[in-house]
Amino acid sequence: MAATDAFIGLGSNMAEPSAQLAGAVARLAALPKTELVAQSAFYRSRPVGPQDQPDFVNGAAWLRTELTPLDLLDQLQAIELAHGRERIQRWGPRTLDLDLLLYGNEAIISDRLTVPHAELANRDFVLQPLLDLDPERVLPDGRSLADLRQQCPDNNLQQLTPVARTLPPG
Ligand code: AMP
Repeated sequence: MAATDAFIGLGSNMAEPSAQLAGAVARLAALPKTELVAQSAFYRSRPVGPQDQPDFVNGAAWLRTELTPLDLLDQLQAIELAHGRERIQRWGPRTLDLDLLLYGNEAIISDRLTVPHAELANRDFVLQPLLDLDPERVLPDGRSLADLRQQCPDNNLQQLTPVARTLPPG
C-alpha cells in the first residue's frame, strides 16, 4: 500500500502539557508503517468551553503512513490511554487529545471517524499548526487552510516552540 500523508492534532492541558505533546510525537514517530515528516510549533491557547481550567497547549504532527484511517485512530486512542487520558467532562481538562485531522485527500464519514476533523475549520489552534506544516494544503472540498485561517475566530495563540522537520521535503 502506498503511504498517505496524515495530520494529527495534539492537545493537552494537564500534567505538563508540552511534555505530553512531545511524548505523543515520539510515540507517533514510532508507530508501525509510519514516518514522522515534521512537527508544528506548539501553541498556548485559551480553553474552548468551560473556562475554569488551565490553558491548553496545541500542536500537530505530519505523518506518512501505510496504516488505514481506522488503524491509525486505534493507535491514537492507544496513545491517549497510555498518557492516562480521563474523560471527566466534555471539553474539560485532558492529559492528551489526539485527533486525525486530515488523511490524504480523503473525506470520511463513519461511526468512528469524521475526516477532515469536524472542528478543523473553526479553531485557530488546529489551523495554525497545520499551516506551519503545509501552508499550501487544500481540504478535500477545495477550501485552503490559509483561507480558513483568515476566516477563523482568533484565540490569541502564543507560540511556545519552533517548527521541526524530520524528513526532507518530497
Ligand atoms: P474526542 O473527545 O475528541 O477525543 O472524541 C473522541 C471520539 O471522536 C472517538 O469516539 C472517535 O471515534 C471520534 N472521532 C470522530 N472523528 C474523529 C477524528 N477525525 N479524530 C479522532 N477521533 C474522532
